[in-house]
Amino acid sequence: MTTNLAEIVAQVRADMESHIGSGRVADYIPALSRVDPRKFGIAVTTCDGETINAGDAEEPFSIQSVSKVFALTIALERVGEALWQRVGREPSGSAFNSIVQLEHEHGIPRNPLINPGAIVVADVILNQRDPKLAITEILEFLRARADDRSVQIDLEVAQSEADTGHRNTAMAYFMRAFGNLNGPVYDVLTTYFHQCAITMNCVQLARAGLFLAGSGRDPISGEQVVKEARARRINAVMMTCGHYDASGDFAFHVGLPGKSGVGGGILCVAPHRASVAVWSPGLNEVGNSLVGSLALERLALLTGWSVF
Ligand code: GLU
Repeated sequence: MTTNLAEIVAQVRADMESHIGSGRVADYIPALSRVDPRKFGIAVTTCDGETINAGDAEEPFSIQSVSKVFALTIALERVGEALWQRVGREPSGSAFNSIVQLEHEHGIPRNPLINPGAIVVADVILNQRDPKLAITEILEFLRARADDRSVQIDLEVAQSEADTGHRNTAMAYFMRAFGNLNGPVYDVLTTYFHQCAITMNCVQLARAGLFLAGSGRDPISGEQVVKEARARRINAVMMTCGHYDASGDFAFHVGLPGKSGVGGGILCVAPHRASVAVWSPGLNEVGNSLVGSLALERLALLTGWSVF
């Protein structure tokens, strides 16, 4: 198994060689536009506790929307099923930051993995407290899950998100007008922007997602992070909603729950087998890592890990 998986990961890395550098690096903030498009990293952490990585797997990157999975986990643990009264669980079928859809659906975002849904989730975590407490809670959760206290927030990225996040701000006010935000918009967004600005490397991210592959239990530490049924549901939401408006396409090609971010990272869960993180900053036209998606398709094919 070990040798096989190591060979497969090496094969995936080699197969990506001719694609590396493709796609368009996010350029809406300076810190992301500076990232070298030729970076590529992959880490696979298995439920047996071994990690195999290749390429730039130990270089930190901005996890951006991948953080939405962990924030969702925290919010579900906080309020349980009541969360689903404030956010749906259907694929959006439109852009991740669509205001039109939000108006149409009376301020209830389609799912927690698009921006307005994640802003509602941030409001739940904020819980009318000082944003510093909510941000610390999210960061500490990721550090615990990654079993690595060096996970940090990039404050330059957080500030740039705030400086350029006019659309997120508009959506937050919009939802507040519909009565779907409890905290002050500024505090909710401060929480959300800092969550997006967390930096991790592939090894940390794969480790952090392992509880979702282990039926809610971290198979290395033995800690039951969430109940099995909850892990199953988070995976279901990732499968149907984790790749913006190309979630169907990702399910078609890869067949695994996953969540991407504009920093070029993707967290992918192979239930009962492994947690996988890939990073390649060039994005496709929908905003998913182009080479990252190809690498996961290849990995799923070579391992036979697709859930279908
Ligand atoms: N911070 C970004 C935003 O809210 C997240 C983008 C993403 O990764 O989807 O616009």
